[in-house]
Amino acid sequence: MGLIPFLCTKALTGRGIYISLKFMAKIVMKFGGSSVGSIDLIKSIAAKIAASKAEDDRLILVVSAMAKTTDELWNMAHMVSERPSRREMDMLLTAGERITMSLMSFALQEHGLSSISFTGSQSGIITDNQHGNARIQNVNAFRIEEELDKGKIVIVAGFQGVSGEKEITTLGRGGSDTSAVALACFTKADRCEIYTNVDGIYSADPSVVPDAILLSEIDYDSMLALAYGGSKVMHPRAVEFALKYEIPVSIKSSFSFNEGTLMTKLRGKTMENRVIDAIAHKEGLIRYILSTKDKLNELLDIGSIEIFRYYMEGGSLELIIEAKYESEMDYLLQDSGIKPLSKEANWGFVIPVGLGINLDPVFLARILKLCEGKAIQRISHTERSIEIMLPSDQVKDCVALLHKELLGDSK
Ligand code: ASP
Ligand code: MG
Repeated sequence: MGLIPFLCTKALTGRGIYISLKFMAKIVMKFGGSSVGSIDLIKSIAAKIAASKAEDDRLILVVSAMAKTTDELWNMAHMVSERPSRREMDMLLTAGERITMSLMSFALQEHGLSSISFTGSQSGIITDNQHGNARIQNVNAFRIEEELDKGKIVIVAGFQGVSGEKEITTLGRGGSDTSAVALACFTKADRCEIYTNVDGIYSADPSVVPDAILLSEIDYDSMLALAYGGSKVMHPRAVEFALKYEIPVSIKSSFSFNEGTLMTKLRGKTMENRVIDAIAHKEGLIRYILSTKDKLNELLDIGSIEIFRYYMEGGSLELIIEAKYESEMDYLLQDSGIKPLSKEANWGFVIPVGLGINLDPVFLARILKLCEGKAIQRISHTERSIEIMLPSDQVKDCVALLHKELLGDSK
């Protein structure tokens, strides 16, 4: 609910004074890297906002760095240093979002809109001190509110904050979603809109399953399972935030501004029918097998890497990570003097998501039948999903097959 939900206007008519109530919405709109990937795209978003903004809407825009900018900055750091320090890396990477925020502000001003851009630190996004993967501890958004009160659109650089020690931090790759949802929660926005290069959440990645269905709604838990399972549309930490604070989030295309998918509380399912909502997948994972005889505590007590999955059995710990963390992981192992029992690339997962499907042997039976001929390494489950681990090069095929057989008719 916005701070001032209604604007009372008095008007003098022939019959006297009447009061009309108009809803003032506070909206956080987040634009990802591909949505702001060129000057033309930035200009066209500004034009869409100018055309669609109601006069009294209080808008906070959160922007990512333009397209490949963050990767380019990352690569530049590695051209100078083999192992760039995390602090300096944060200083460098946060520059990407600053470019977009100011360009967006210029573009809005060209439409006669009044706007101001802020870094994460100016926006009051306070984090812990974990450079490269900092977590938000608080949001003191008073400067944002002040500017909104003046009628300005506030543009915030996503993916960044400032620690208690006044150091600039980043929230981990893809972290602008988290900035947006956190701002929506702490500023008590009416809603958060995540604008991206797809139309919303589909029943599978449309580049793998061309006839995947656009979902009009998805509940927080299923969305979280999809995000944890590899769906790239929204960052898992942003979904965690939305779930905790129950903030409605819609995922929309920045090219069309169409309705998209609304992420919200579970509702309207048909009685006890168990259905698969969607299928997530992940390719190119790396698996390390470590001996539990090694000092793993120190190695694991690090915040800089997110583990995709882990399994411990007998005397070994299996750690599965995304390739982007490989060099960091190798350094950490080196630093702690641990030699993995094995390290293999090219693992993948296919993860059907739906309430209760994990309890139903019928789903397992169908999956086993459909996956005959695939080199399944393991099938495990969470309370929202069934997780099939298999070689990376079999993932797409498996998604297409399961989608056709398990979702084809029901959607
Ligand atoms: N620019 C950052 C990244 O590429 C953050 C984001 O886009 O969400 O990871
Ligand atoms: Mg993203």
